[in-house]
Amino acid sequence: MSAISRETKAIVLDSFEHGESDIILTLLCRDSGRLAVIAKGAKRSKKRFVNKLELFSFLHITYRTAANRDLGFLAEAELHTGFLNIRSNYDLYCTASVLREFLLLAIRENITDDRLFRLALWALHNMDRNNQPGAILALFLIHFYDCIGYRPDFTSCSRCRIPLQDRGKYCFDSTAGGLVCTSCLTSAKRHAPLSRGTIRMLASAQNRSLEKLHNLKISGKILTETLGLLHTYGRQIFQREIVSWKLMSPDRR
Ligand SMILES: [Zn+2]
Repeated sequence: MSAISRETKAIVLDSFEHGESDIILTLLCRDSGRLAVIAKGAKRSKKRFVNKLELFSFLHITYRTAANRDLGFLAEAELHTGFLNIRSNYDLYCTASVLREFLLLAIRENITDDRLFRLALWALHNMDRNNQPGAILALFLIHFYDCIGYRPDFTSCSRCRIPLQDRGKYCFDSTAGGLVCTSCLTSAKRHAPLSRGTIRMLASAQNRSLEKLHNLKISGKILTETLGLLHTYGRQIFQREIVSWKLMSPDRR
């Protein structure tokens, strides 16, 4: 069976050693979605792959696939960005690990999403600059849910569909996929309404382009409320715990 050679840009999302000398990678590729490849001899290579196959690395790769094999063969990797700050700063590493876990849960083979790829790169670049990493994670997740088809509704009550009122009180209901007015909430689900600042920020963030997203500053109570609802929503969508969430510093959990 002849193999097909391809090139693409890719982000390393998972990496583990295989046998005595190989490394198997899970990649998010711009042109092919999720891709698993084996880098033969990578553990022994003195220059071909050295310092390139680390978690979060942004690469340009050449790889080969055969129709009857799930695992591709990594032929070459050129490093665009290693995100050294993320890899050397524990706090940044833990925050980026949450982003990585969400991507691994969502991406599929042969399903390309240029918007999601650019969003992941945007978040890694900004986290690497240590530019409000908790806020970057929040902004990433607001757009991530949109990319994967779970855009939260921050403009009207997700149950009665009445547009948000200035004086209304709203909670986030993860099963409804958005804000819910307090009169639509069942008593069993009643919890503290979100602050107006949080609601305004969520709606603003959702409609901003990537080029302007990092200008949005989020801190204090607004960041705490936002990360709390985005975490709950992720658990609802994927029906499982987000394991890396508890590794983040306590002010983000
Ligand atoms: Zn309602």
